[in-house]
Amino acid sequence: MVEKILANLEKSNCATDSTFMQAVSEVLRSLTPTVESDSRYERYAILERLVTPDRVIQFKVQWVDDQNRVQINNGYRVQFNNSLGPYKGGLRFHPSVTLEMLKFLAYEQIFKNSLTGLPIGGAKGGSDFDPKGKSDFEIMNFCRAFMRELHQYIGARVDVPAGDIGVGLREIGFLFGEYRRITRNYEGALSGKPYAFGGSLMRPQATGYGVVYFAAEMLKEEIQESLEGQICSVSGAGNVALHTIEKLQHLGAKVITCSDSEGTIYDPEGIDMDLLKRIKGNERHLSLEHYIQKKDTAVYTKKEDYPHDGHTVWSYPCFAAFPCATQNELTLSDAARLIENGCIAVIEGANMPTTPNAIDLFHENGILFAPGKASNAGGVAVSEFEMSQNASMEKWDFDKVDHKLNAIMRQIYKRVALTAKENGKERNFVDGANIAAFKRIAEAMILEGI
Ligand code: NDP
Repeated sequence: MVEKILANLEKSNCATDSTFMQAVSEVLRSLTPTVESDSRYERYAILERLVTPDRVIQFKVQWVDDQNRVQINNGYRVQFNNSLGPYKGGLRFHPSVTLEMLKFLAYEQIFKNSLTGLPIGGAKGGSDFDPKGKSDFEIMNFCRAFMRELHQYIGARVDVPAGDIGVGLREIGFLFGEYRRITRNYEGALSGKPYAFGGSLMRPQATGYGVVYFAAEMLKEEIQESLEGQICSVSGAGNVALHTIEKLQHLGAKVITCSDSEGTIYDPEGIDMDLLKRIKGNERHLSLEHYIQKKDTAVYTKKEDYPHDGHTVWSYPCFAAFPCATQNELTLSDAARLIENGCIAVIEGANMPTTPNAIDLFHENGILFAPGKASNAGGVAVSEFEMSQNASMEKWDFDKVDHKLNAIMRQIYKRVALTAKENGKERNFVDGANIAAFKRIAEAMILEGI
């Protein structure tokens, strides 16, 4: 059944759509024995329905830049599945954004949101707008224009977008301001909002901290190890990477790398977090090259000077690696280098950063591999906490949110590890995550009827 669905998808307009096909085939191959064990899945055409989005919304975003020139971008929202709850998933503003990319991210989001055990469906959206180098007013003009179109499709009980690459507190603030002005409705139609108007404490930290909570639980349960004193490599220098590094340091690990789209920093003394935040924190987008101007023990390698095939960030010896930048940033040759250099665990912070052949190599070599749909679910979990706080007009303190996040990440690990074991796939957390997430969604789809 799985092969037939994949063949049909390839024949349809998805043929050119490689990241979406990559995500769908990974999930469907994990599910083969599961779907064959219960005839209801075929009778209700669950797999066919799960690879087709409920709705794809595409719109034109017209705005005016600081030179009074009219600019036009494409805007999108892919509402993939809402059987478990309102559509939920981030908005990405980056020149590489296409409808196909958002379809893959929305599809992954259904499974991630299911794994949290919370009542949220899957969606994703964004634009090919590039926030880099734009003034605050240009960002505001763009966000207002984007929301003028998007507002008609979202709402606290309908679809609740959050941030992603290129969309942080500032952008969500502008988007929410415009939503409120147009609809006259002060409701939690977006998450990741500034604390001043309904945001949850800890939302900026949630994804990165959650990644590390997942890693700590996995290492403790699987190999009775902790992160204290361990050397770790992290890629990226955005929201997820910064907070992953911060929490790893809280737990006593030494993080020796970070990167951005232009190059990599290797600091054998451990990344200086204050310095890194001065370069990349609070919406700043300076080059990582600034890091070595202040810290001469560190090495900066420009992307064009990478000495080998693959990514320099994965070429240093480490105990655990945390890819936190973007999709397909850890390839087969990177995986081989990590294994050769003694890495024993890879925990994804980004969405699908590891290529399928790299994942296979990790599995063949007994590396503990945590897929992003499980390990980076902390962001969406705290977004759901924000929805709960908005609905009940409450404000939770930092410790309460942190405690709940930690509990949910440990629960996700347990759910994934146990499901893998029960299905004869011990320590295959990819299969464990796909099967556990699928069963919850499929049950809801069967119970609600067609
Ligand atoms: P940010 O925009 O804050 O940061 C992204 C980082 O990745 C930047 O350092 C960026 O560098 C770097 N980057 C982007 N493209 C490339 C590339 N092609 N090669 C190398 N580096 C690159 O985004 P987030 O931190 O929010 O998101 C990172 C990942 O985590 C994404 O996959 C996202 O989908 C995922 N994620 C995010 C969540 C969240 O809560 N924010 C939740 C769950 C998953 P530069 O600054 O030079 O562009």
